[in-house]
Amino acid sequence: MEKTTGKKRRVLLIYTGGTIGMIQDPRTGALSPFRFERLQEAVPDLKNLNVEISTYSFPRLIDSSDMGPEGWSAIGGVIRDHYQAYDGFVVLHGTDTMAYTASALSFTLENLQKPVVLTGSQLPVGVLRSDGKANLVNSIEMAAAVDEKGQPKVREVCVCFGDSLYRGNRITKYSAESFKAFLSPNFPALAKAGVHVRWSEELNRIKRQPGETGFRLQTELEHRIFIFKLYPGCPISLNLGMVGTGKEAVPFLARFKGVVLESYGSGNAPSCPEFEQWLQVMRRHRIPVLNVTQCAEGSVEMGKYAASTLLQEYGVVNGRDMTTEAAVAKMMYVLAKGLGYRESCRLLGRPLRGEMACT
Ligand code: ASP
Repeated sequence: MEKTTGKKRRVLLIYTGGTIGMIQDPRTGALSPFRFERLQEAVPDLKNLNVEISTYSFPRLIDSSDMGPEGWSAIGGVIRDHYQAYDGFVVLHGTDTMAYTASALSFTLENLQKPVVLTGSQLPVGVLRSDGKANLVNSIEMAAAVDEKGQPKVREVCVCFGDSLYRGNRITKYSAESFKAFLSPNFPALAKAGVHVRWSEELNRIKRQPGETGFRLQTELEHRIFIFKLYPGCPISLNLGMVGTGKEAVPFLARFKGVVLESYGSGNAPSCPEFEQWLQVMRRHRIPVLNVTQCAEGSVEMGKYAASTLLQEYGVVNGRDMTTEAAVAKMMYVLAKGLGYRESCRLLGRPLRGEMACT
């Protein structure tokens, strides 16, 4: 770890990889990560910020396509290990899976009372027109911001990108082109950086969970999650094909511990016998099914149409307006607690970190 500036609010900049710190290979033209010191050279203005910045670089810098539960626990571990020493944390991360990482950290960093801001860019920071510099500077300033009592302005996991600060578990990457790469379709931005930073009333309005006292990192995550995206004509029965032999044989999906069901519109699913059989198998094997909509905006409303009443009858959990990214991360987090089917379903169906509407 390296210290770069003098005293003031202390922010730890954690570098995991992603386009923001990539450089083009002159031979192949492909982008690959470069060392963190080069990033600081590319943004000399970091020294002029009224913030004491320290840096932590992961030894292996990755494209975020390689990020997963182990990486999330590693990032969480760095934050946990430096939690007392810093006022805030900025995580530099690729944009491709940033919504998953931000969602995962929002759950695993229990009872978080300090800012954790993820950012990245669409163009490497060394490129003249890069969006990386503004994203980085905004993120550090927001992670260092204090209220009138000197307390951190932000006390949750956020993503700062394209002049907006978003709740981390509400976003989805929607553009591979625009500098506004993320949408938060069901929840307003927490801050907007223009000439002034405008903060939203929604900031830090997350209800703390009973029993969560003191900051703690949950490192365990249940990897065996399956996303079942419905589409017209999808071969539902293939999902139930048996794997294994003899007494060991189980339906393919029974190898998983939870299923995120991406349904249509306001949570609708086919009414054919194959789908009912699918629901029966999930129920028999006590595999929680969490229903989120394929629509970017809006919410699951089970029971609104006849096409979703069957889901209710089989105890499918209403994921309301959660993104798929948040649903996957929440399932991995909740199922790793080993609480059993009923209690897991109960937790999946209620807001834990402001990731879904309250009803
Ligand atoms: N492939 C890159 C990544 O996610 C894209 C980016 O950073 O924008 O790591």
